[in-house]
Amino acid sequence: MITREFLPCNQMPGCGANHNGLCVALDDMKFKTGVCPFYKSTEQCRREHNENYDRLVSLDRRDLIEKYNLRRTPDVGEQV
Ligand code: SF4
Repeated sequence: MITREFLPCNQMPGCGANHNGLCVALDDMKFKTGVCPFYKSTEQCRREHNENYDRLVSLDRRDLIEKYNLRRTPDVGEQV
């Protein structure tokens, strides 16, 4: 089983990739400016995830949806 350690991120706690102070997106944080250029809000992450999911559905790539166990993420207040 492959396990991965996550790096701590304390510069942008509102980032959608920040889970309990750990970055679940990046393996390297040596940014030239010292500021992460990959910051995305939780809402932006949710919206882009759903756009990607919908694109896979439109391409009939259910194999990838199942392989990566993807689901649509509901809007806040949206019924599922
Ligand atoms: S993507 Fe950047 S800002 Fe977001 S958690 Fe990772 S290092 Fe922090």
